[in-house]
Amino acid sequence: MAIPLLRDFDIRGKSVLVREDLNVPLEDGRVANSARIDAALPTIRHCMAAGARVTLVSHLGRPRPGERNPALSLKPVAKALGDALGCTVRLVDDWRNGAAVGSADVVLLENIRFEAGETTNDPALARRLAALCDVFVMDAFGTAHRAHASTVGVAEAAGAACAGPLLAAELHALGRVLDDPARPLVAVVGGAKVSTKLAVLESLAHVADSIIVGGGIANTFLLASGSQIGASLAEADQVDVARRIMTRIEVPMPVDVMTATAIDAVLPGRLRLRDEVGSDEMVLDIGPETARRLADQVAKAGTVLFNGPLGVFELDQFGEGTRVLAEAIASADAYSVAGGGDTLAAIEKYGVGEGISYQSTGGGAFLEYLAGETLPAVAALERRIVAPHRK
Ligand code: AMP
Repeated sequence: MAIPLLRDFDIRGKSVLVREDLNVPLEDGRVANSARIDAALPTIRHCMAAGARVTLVSHLGRPRPGERNPALSLKPVAKALGDALGCTVRLVDDWRNGAAVGSADVVLLENIRFEAGETTNDPALARRLAALCDVFVMDAFGTAHRAHASTVGVAEAAGAACAGPLLAAELHALGRVLDDPARPLVAVVGGAKVSTKLAVLESLAHVADSIIVGGGIANTFLLASGSQIGASLAEADQVDVARRIMTRIEVPMPVDVMTATAIDAVLPGRLRLRDEVGSDEMVLDIGPETARRLADQVAKAGTVLFNGPLGVFELDQFGEGTRVLAEAIASADAYSVAGGGDTLAAIEKYGVGEGISYQSTGGGAFLEYLAGETLPAVAALERRIVAPHRK
């Protein structure tokens, strides 16, 4: 279904309220990783260049609703944003009576989760936010799966509401994977647990041509196919789910694996054939022959979806499977989309970002979208096509 897009609005001289995802990691009161700020900049610059008066709203961390926790103030984010934009980004804590925006500066509202009604989508808070703007711009894909006052309520209450370029790009990239992918569509799903990605795996089993599993998830599939996995992380209660998925779609099983008796930075990995894992050993990565075969499969794909590492990639001796697959995805001719959890950290570690067609900024939202769920903030924008003025 269609959603209104910022590019279709004339925002010259108008007040825009942009919901950004500026939920960045902080260390010693400073922004430790600016990826989310960097991703927000083009939209903010677009609004400024178009002559709009710009107010930004975001959450940071998880303060107790209604509690003003100074450690979760957006102050360091305002500073980093101002440095990047080359203008003053004024942090406004009390905006009950509005937040005056000059033509040359940008206003950032203090952490919206300091407001008691944010996470409960309180209509009064949504109306207060709506009163700050002529046009509400939803651009925070990373929080689009949450029905909060600053994502859903304000999109309903504002005079006009639309998706910003980042949200639109995210939906376009994921739509290209799920709706009409160039085939074959190969999904690479790694990470720790099947249970956290159950809905994603079930949904992908309907649209993908094969699912390459890795990490603890692969261990559960190995268990389901009758292999001994020793002391590996696996979920015995998810074995039936794994079997069901394997009957529906091709899930190649590792032929060799890397093991250790403890997850320890100095302990070297041991190469084992799939059926030779000792009872005291843990499978912590796929082996080199498996990585080579899976890389060949990825090289022939038309579309690749990449979510989750194939092993404990934080330790180099168990990172080879993730490295080889990440490099294969990056050098494939396929359209590739990566996102969720540690995936982007792995892409950065192995320096393959340039080869990935699209890197999603969403974690939970990325997984929920892949699982076929409707994102509440996107649904709210879809309703604005039908009923554009509900103020
Ligand atoms: P997730 O957040 O579900 O994507 O899981 C990512 C985490 O899974 C990373 O911290 C990895 O170290 C971990 N992981 C990957 N493979 C394994 C494995 N075979 N055993 C235990 N943990 C793993």
